[in-house]
Amino acid sequence: MCGTDATNGANAANGSTNGKPNGGAKFRSNPYQPVGDFLSNVGSFKIIESTLREGEQFANAYFDTETKIKIAKALDAFGVDYIELTSPAASEQSRKDCEAICKLGLKAKILTHVRCDMRDAKLAVETGVDGLDVVIGTSSFLREHSHGKDMAYIEKTAIEVIEYIKSKGLEVRFSSEDSFRSDLVDLLSLYRAVDKVGVNRVGIADTVGCASPRQVYDLVRTLRGIVSCDIETHFHDDKGCSIANAYCALEAGATHIDTSVLGIGERNGITPLGGLLARMVVTSPEYVKSKYKLHMLKEIEDLVAEAVEINTPFNNPITGFCAFTHKAGIHAKAILNNPSTYEILNPADFGLTRYVHFASRLTGWNAVKTRVGQLGLVMTDDQVKEVTAKIKALADVRPIAIDDADSIIRSFHLTLHEQPEAAQNGPPAVEVVGQ
Ligand SMILES: [Zn+2]
Repeated sequence: MCGTDATNGANAANGSTNGKPNGGAKFRSNPYQPVGDFLSNVGSFKIIESTLREGEQFANAYFDTETKIKIAKALDAFGVDYIELTSPAASEQSRKDCEAICKLGLKAKILTHVRCDMRDAKLAVETGVDGLDVVIGTSSFLREHSHGKDMAYIEKTAIEVIEYIKSKGLEVRFSSEDSFRSDLVDLLSLYRAVDKVGVNRVGIADTVGCASPRQVYDLVRTLRGIVSCDIETHFHDDKGCSIANAYCALEAGATHIDTSVLGIGERNGITPLGGLLARMVVTSPEYVKSKYKLHMLKEIEDLVAEAVEINTPFNNPITGFCAFTHKAGIHAKAILNNPSTYEILNPADFGLTRYVHFASRLTGWNAVKTRVGQLGLVMTDDQVKEVTAKIKALADVRPIAIDDADSIIRSFHLTLHEQPEAAQNGPPAVEVVGQ
């Protein structure tokens, strides 16, 4: 089944790029078609949301049952394909929480993440999950210093566990840990073996965050040629490459990306849900906008940020406080004329508003003119230019707040000969604020 999915995904991308049916052929029918387009799943990926598994490994995270349920419901309403939960083998409460979330009847499939061990698999199957994400370390570091098993043992156990899970009618993914520091031949032979016994997905995990986008592309593309099942990928953000790596994985033929809200996870976390969608909405706007309720993103991030007692970083894609704030006069002028001049993302897609920062010495008269309109005042362009000079003069002396700039505008207006106020001005298209 998984093989069909993966093949269809690749063909769909193929068909959409060259606009011609390829008759279901797995390989390129057009010799001039770029390899990247054939492999790419940037318009057909699925999200495995791991805030309730990877995110629980974040230093500040302690999710009680009620919080887990709130997060699971929010993610489900947002439209993620899968929700991954902590292993029921981790603790008795983890097992109970897993059962409780399975009973919610969510649209998203519920997965739990377990060690490649028959006891863990049996415990997980009993909770009512839709599938198991099975994991084992394959790098020499982990084989030597963590579980101490050799590759033959890993392969034998993997096949037993996968066959058991499938016999229960559940989905199963098999993943290595630390895939980029595992021996390539070992890794590919293992994945070929599990693919043959019908695993739904194999997983590539950059557990230590060491991979570069090009390494990701190469490994996923190689794996794509070896297995017919789906390919899930998991990227840690130690070097800030987690979004770029996820994108390259999709370009190379990966089908599933692991995310967490705000990227929370072990150490400094993994590919953030919002950041990934910021990237993907630019590449595949129709797919992303039709599938995910993007206007819910801020609410979900706020929910998780509060639960783990952090603030949304200022430079967070989409929801960072200044993500849609324009300050320099030259930018403000262009933005006021046409927002796409200095914005690749449209804040309205996420239920947000752009801001033009006008209370600074970098401001321009176009931004001030918009603010004058918002205040219900009428001035000629020359008068706006004059008051802009006054705002800049004060802002050169000290930082000014929105109230300072508004006072300058109002008192300047008073000095002008009496004019009717433009009370009927409609709401401005752009909100103009101070700092
Ligand atoms: Zn991880």
